[in-house]
Amino acid sequence: TIALSHLRKSYSGHEVLHDISLTAQDGDVISLIGASGSGKSTLLRCIPFLEVPQGGEIAVGDEVVTIDNPDEKLSREQQHRIKLMRMQLGFVFQSFNLWPHKTVLQNIIEAPIHVQKRSSKEAIEEAEALLQKVGLYEKRNAWPSQLSGGQQQRVAIARALAQQPKAILFDEPTSALDPELVGEVLRVIRSLAEEGRTMIIVTHEMGFARDVSNKAVFLHQGKIEEAGSPQQVFSDPLSARCRAFVSSHL
Ligand code: ATP
Ligand code: MG
Repeated sequence: TIALSHLRKSYSGHEVLHDISLTAQDGDVISLIGASGSGKSTLLRCIPFLEVPQGGEIAVGDEVVTIDNPDEKLSREQQHRIKLMRMQLGFVFQSFNLWPHKTVLQNIIEAPIHVQKRSSKEAIEEAEALLQKVGLYEKRNAWPSQLSGGQQQRVAIARALAQQPKAILFDEPTSALDPELVGEVLRVIRSLAEEGRTMIIVTHEMGFARDVSNKAVFLHQGKIEEAGSPQQVFSDPLSARCRAFVSSHL
């Protein structure tokens, strides 16, 4: 479970997230949509404290961090909890962020071996299974630069999965891809949804979001303007802004 309550984030005194409360129960796939600048990435980045919020509370599994000092200073105790939270989360961002000097397999086994302290034999076996799953076993010894964008993004997904996360956060995982490569990445994400993985997905692929998610959230200027079932948010929103946004993106 990921639970955000009354989250607030400002950049130099300018508040860009206002009082955001949102819960992803185990197995939920939440699609997060909204115009450019509405705060989607900031929201996603606050969950693992890649951005430090000014107020509110974030819970990931049993770890809870309450922000009570708006100056972004974190106590040791908070830093410790954040570390434990991060270990339960996988991230896949817009740009692929693979380590260029490591092979595909090395990229995937890095964290399992060095962070989770698992044996290399076990990490390699699992990495190979994950590469089968994303259809890239043959590329296990390739360098990232030898892969297409879609392939790199599938490696990034395998790398996130290798850390056995309880939830995965995606920030526009297909927006840097050539159109013909989008489908292969969406297929992998869809298969994760079918496995019952907990995911929060920022995307401009409205059709995909509607199909794959069981909850949808529309952000407008740092506020949740509409939240509900995909049926509601994509087909019958209460908010006129949400309606206009969705219809201009379908
Ligand atoms: P996009 O669809 O373009 O990715 P977004 O919904 O992800 O947009 P954010 O990147 O979260 O939007 O930005 C939300 C607001 O916060 C914007 O007004 C942006 O200018 C501001 N912002 C984001 N990051 C920073 C930063 N590091 N410093 C200052 N302002 C920032
Ligand atoms: Mg963004």
